[in-house]
Amino acid sequence: MDERANSLHRWQLLWDASTNGSWIHRLIPRLDPWVNRPHGEVNYYLTQMLSGHGFKYEESPECPACPGVSEDAEHVFFTCPHFNVHCSTLETALGGRIQPENLVEAMFSSETAWEVTSAFAAEVLKDLRKAEHILPLLIAVGFFYIILLGLSTYMAIQLRYRRLLHVTYRLYIGSVILQSIGICCEIYCYIHQGLTGFEAHQTSLAGSLYEGGAEIIFTLLLFLLALGYTVTRSSLTIKEVKYISYFVGMLIILQLTLFVYQWEIFDPGLVLYIYESPPGFGLLTLKILAWGIFVICCWRTSRKTTTKFHFYASLLSLGSIWFLCHPLTV
Ligand SMILES: [Zn+2]
Repeated sequence: MDERANSLHRWQLLWDASTNGSWIHRLIPRLDPWVNRPHGEVNYYLTQMLSGHGFKYEESPECPACPGVSEDAEHVFFTCPHFNVHCSTLETALGGRIQPENLVEAMFSSETAWEVTSAFAAEVLKDLRKAEHILPLLIAVGFFYIILLGLSTYMAIQLRYRRLLHVTYRLYIGSVILQSIGICCEIYCYIHQGLTGFEAHQTSLAGSLYEGGAEIIFTLLLFLLALGYTVTRSSLTIKEVKYISYFVGMLIILQLTLFVYQWEIFDPGLVLYIYESPPGFGLLTLKILAWGIFVICCWRTSRKTTTKFHFYASLLSLGSIWFLCHPLTV
């Protein structure tokens, strides 16, 4: 036995003694083929998968999708229904049932097999982190909208009682209702995916349609207020109505095109932002243009009536935040 084989043998004995029965020992029982593997870089995600570290069960033991089951590496990568889409993709690519005991051997079979497994680990872990962070955030936003909706409805009743329930306030309520429904759809999608492992594609699209509708109504509302409608005057000129109609019509057409695009072509898994598509880019351009028009209208109206200066200063700053920040956060 030469020097190298000797040290590998000693190393193997140490490995067996120190990691016996552990997750990594199940995946890599023999060191020799691992050390002498023909290919394969170990990246961050593979390290997490192989070591079994960084899983939530270290803090709270239960998998959110499977009551009573601990969310450890074996559960996440091999048995949890939440990730079974990724798992079956991997098994199709590797051509057989994958278990902790044969995974690493399958990875050695070819460079492609290694890459596919590496991609699998990354997909699963990204999904896991996403579910951990986005759902609590969405639920918080959902609560915020429920409270906002309650307060706004109360205000609407008060205004109606005093005969002050203007068109602008009705538009505002309409956009809050649509936005709330949209967020409920998003929450449902995350929970559905958590429980079944499959995306609720139709609900997800319905959610973005509701949120798109809410956005268009809110844009219309800001235009009307900027022109002074229900603030400094009670009617608009025919020309103003015509321009607003054109603009809102264009927004609706682009939003629907984006919706069809998402439905037909777009793979949400591939691109992070919906604005990275031709109709999305058009919509983004139109929103920036809308902001420009909004600023000019606010300035003109506030010059005509000095008594409403504070109202327009607030509207301009809050409206600008909405116009400019919203596209970036979607
Ligand atoms: Zn699970």
